[in-house]
Amino acid sequence: MRNSRNASKNAFSAVKANSGATAADEPDGLWLRFGGVTAAIYWAIHASCLLAIYTGVNAVDVALCLGLFWLRIFGITGGFHRYFAHRSFKTGRVVQFLLAFLGTSAIQKGPLWWAGTHRVHHRHSDQPGDPHSPKVSFWHSHQGWIFEEAWGETRLEEIKDFAKFPELVWLNQWHVVPPLLMAFACYAIGGFSGLVWGVSISTVICWHATYSINSLSHRLGSTRFETGDDSKNNLFLALLTLGEGWHNNHHRFMNSTRQGFYWWEIDITYYLLRLMSSVGLVWDMKTPPASVYAEASANRAVRSVAASAKEAAVDVVAESVALASRLTADPSGTPTPP
Ligand SMILES: [Zn+2]
Ligand SMILES: [Zn+2]
Repeated sequence: MRNSRNASKNAFSAVKANSGATAADEPDGLWLRFGGVTAAIYWAIHASCLLAIYTGVNAVDVALCLGLFWLRIFGITGGFHRYFAHRSFKTGRVVQFLLAFLGTSAIQKGPLWWAGTHRVHHRHSDQPGDPHSPKVSFWHSHQGWIFEEAWGETRLEEIKDFAKFPELVWLNQWHVVPPLLMAFACYAIGGFSGLVWGVSISTVICWHATYSINSLSHRLGSTRFETGDDSKNNLFLALLTLGEGWHNNHHRFMNSTRQGFYWWEIDITYYLLRLMSSVGLVWDMKTPPASVYAEASANRAVRSVAASAKEAAVDVVAESVALASRLTADPSGTPTPP
């Protein structure tokens, strides 16, 4: 695994050299400046979930845990991913900041870091240069890559379109502010157990739900489109992450606001954005063009023909085997009618 990690780092270096990026003038987050503190905080938050054994749980704790999980997952999916990384819809500056703030409260660093890194993922999906390719290892794609120095910096060259907003640059730099405010609010509402359930447990679930799209969604599920990578569509992950599990769809047409391309592909982030659109908070939501739907139909037809041909071939083989066994049973060589 060590070698593959080094290979990943080398591939990254090549990408970075080509992009002409410099680390010195980038607004690094606090986590990068303090290096190994990132890993210490990450695992300490995991360990702090065990404090629930001491605090117990009540209805307020459950509401904080689930409410903040869904709210912050939406901040990641509707905000960091579909808005900042892919610009799949438009909004005003206030809602833009609120989406950024909400996403940042999920403790996955700031909007410019998150979206800039994600754009690199789409450009090098499952190839050298991909920050979290599952081909390196499952661990690497799920969470190992976060601790690699190569991915610690905000890649401003990837996210120039949003780096021109000073409030986003500030939030990106001071990405610890929203989580700290959230922690104070949880303590004020639910006391110490509110802190454990609303911050620690909710955040750990939120982390691994998000990371499952980088790891499991590139391994488990079905493939509708030939995208040149291992992205998959997966209903379970779509339900867990408010719609991000339609990852093969997403890799086929990443600029679409909706990732469930059909009505039966549940995509709660899209429904929430449609709700926001109906009251004018967001607009110009992009959908997949007709050519993408035509491609899906063509792929379905080709697979159906291939499946029928396979079935026919299996029948022919079965008949041949039956005929051979009858010939074996009748050494005179006179085939008996079936
Ligand atoms: Zn992906
Ligand atoms: Zn994406």
